[in-house]
Amino acid sequence: MSDATRDIEALIALMSRLPGLGPRSARRAVLHLLKKRGQVMAPLAQAMAEVAATARECVTCGNIGTTDLCDICRDERRATGEICVVEDVADLWAMERGQSFKGRYHVLGGTLSALDAVGPEDLRIPKLLSRVRDERVAEVILALNATVDGQTTAHYIADALEGTGTRVTTLAQGVPIGGELDYLDDGTIQAALRARKAV
Ligand SMILES: [Zn+2]
Repeated sequence: MSDATRDIEALIALMSRLPGLGPRSARRAVLHLLKKRGQVMAPLAQAMAEVAATARECVTCGNIGTTDLCDICRDERRATGEICVVEDVADLWAMERGQSFKGRYHVLGGTLSALDAVGPEDLRIPKLLSRVRDERVAEVILALNATVDGQTTAHYIADALEGTGTRVTTLAQGVPIGGELDYLDDGTIQAALRARKAV
């Protein structure tokens, strides 16, 4: 194998480690990049180098940005007294796409897990508790995944915040917008029934 081929193979191997890309799609992506070297590959390489050098976690909420304090934590208009707790930055992005939450976030960095020996100190839970104290938070919204570990984590945080005077809420679970009942699993239908409201 020539050096040039080896370099391209190495690039394909790196790309195939990305979530959602197997070796076959990585090969196609690299071929596309090679064909569009000027328009796509060079700007992409430059953007990746820049972000790799500057990306960091927000010291307050754990969001990813390029400054010590993220845009949301710096925005005074978002000091609404509400903190939305999410497991991962991907969940924060999902909430922001919804464009209806106007408060700030707290990214835990995972969930409690007895199986994987993940305790509160391994997550940003102590930091959340100190924020609730220091920022005079009125409401903590637990937007955690509806998994066993997600719900265990939600209960742990709710217990830890008991007696602080802060309201603790969770997102409703139920029928998705555009969803058809016939396609939902039993657990979702039960949750939707529990969270029913007057029309
Ligand atoms: Zn932040």
